[in-house]
Amino acid sequence: MKRTEVFTDDLDKFCCPNKSCSQYGIRGAKNISVRDTYGPHHTRLLWCRSCNKRFSERRGTIFFDARLPQDKIVSIVEHVVEGNGMRKTSRLLKVGKDTVCRYTQLAGEHSEKLHEELVAFSPTDRRDSIRREVGLRAKEAKKLQRKQSR
Ligand SMILES: [Zn+2]
Repeated sequence: MKRTEVFTDDLDKFCCPNKSCSQYGIRGAKNISVRDTYGPHHTRLLWCRSCNKRFSERRGTIFFDARLPQDKIVSIVEHVVEGNGMRKTSRLLKVGKDTVCRYTQLAGEHSEKLHEELVAFSPTDRRDSIRREVGLRAKEAKKLQRKQSR
């Protein structure tokens, strides 16, 4: 039996999805490892050493339990992001309109969760430093305008 090589360099990106686990939601805690692979694309089955639960590397993404190939799903989202409507995307990619709507909905929900996570970890006084920088740049722009008008 031919054994495929399993990629493990990106495990710090994953965290335990089990809410009752002590490592829940903590990335880079070194509690996640690859337990097995499954499916035609060798999707990794990850394992949390803390709670002993297994989960798909695709859990929480739009690719989890998907019937379409990953590149087709990415293409659907790209078409919608570029401003194509559901019907137009459906015709261009030869998939059902409901399929386009479903993946667009899933992508939106995933993006919202990701946004909330990233906002939660952003520095608290960031707005002040940005305001300061915008103010300084405005002063520099006025100086440049004065020099150019002479
Ligand atoms: Zn866990």
